[in-house]
Amino acid sequence: MSRTVVVALGGNAILSHGQKGFWEEQLHNVNKTAQQIISLISKGYHVVVSHGNGPQVGNIYLQNQISKEVVPPLPLYACGAESQGYIGFMLQQSIKNMLAKNGIDKQVVTLVTQVLVDKNDEAFKKPTKPIGPFYNREEAMQIKKTQNIEMIEDGGRGWRRVVPSPKPLEIIEKDVIKNLVSDGVIVIASGGGGIPVIKDEEGNLKGIDAVIDKDLASALLASELDAEILLILTDVEKVCINYNKPDQREIDKISTQHAKQYLLEGHFGTGSMKPKVEAAISFVENSRRKAIIAKLDKLVDAICGNTGTCVC
Ligand code: ADP
Ligand code: MG
Repeated sequence: MSRTVVVALGGNAILSHGQKGFWEEQLHNVNKTAQQIISLISKGYHVVVSHGNGPQVGNIYLQNQISKEVVPPLPLYACGAESQGYIGFMLQQSIKNMLAKNGIDKQVVTLVTQVLVDKNDEAFKKPTKPIGPFYNREEAMQIKKTQNIEMIEDGGRGWRRVVPSPKPLEIIEKDVIKNLVSDGVIVIASGGGGIPVIKDEEGNLKGIDAVIDKDLASALLASELDAEILLILTDVEKVCINYNKPDQREIDKISTQHAKQYLLEGHFGTGSMKPKVEAAISFVENSRRKAIIAKLDKLVDAICGNTGTCVC
């Protein structure tokens, strides 16, 4: 499985900032994303796709809250499973259509993926993951009061619901993903960071309300699959130090050691670039391979080493 690439899709692969989340908007974005993925497949790589779900899981959760007097609401982790299902469906259909157009005979499958977390993870005491739509301060305080859910200000863009984001420990379905990849199937797995599950006293898996960071879960997936490259696609071309400051500098290539230093110095946005850099470090340290953080529409250039930030 030496030519396996785990492609972690950022939010903009499915929904651009400012879009509301209409089905057609999401499908249009996913079609463009699928084109990028096809170019990678055409180059001979085995592709495993993972993706974020922040806006989508938040919207599904909100639908459940608004309609709870009519239809019993689902727990947050089930909303996560729903988001894996529909985002996976969009990607699966879009990639399949484009494979056919390009005369490539390959199967595509979405795997509903559970990811083990520790029920004593500190994250359960301190929610950090923003999900769903943005609100102004007044609306946010009202939601906090009436829905008993934490709200935070998200990077100057407005207020959002915030939920715990525990560390991913194990991909429960890793073996079946490995089998599918070695059979040449394009697998969409670990969507939205995976459905968070814990083990109870009897060893049974059980969902728990949280949203796992998709970058960290993708790093775990890439390690489990012994992938050659972890490719984290987002909306900026390169990772920067002194981001948004007059002395901002783009990084082309960086060692895990230097990346850790920059992490400590606080160069990377919490909940945005920080988990990507942490994911890259964790994969590279586990595998001795490389991770690339790049812009979604520069995927092929990034794989060829012409853009993006390479952590190695
Ligand atoms: P995704 O949905 O792809 O995970 P995020 O918004 O979570 O996207 O993360 C990408 C964002 O990280 C960029 O749009 C950028 O604004 C922000 N960011 C924070 N710190 C940095 C940095 N040091 N270098 C580059 N981008 C950064
Ligand atoms: Mg993100």
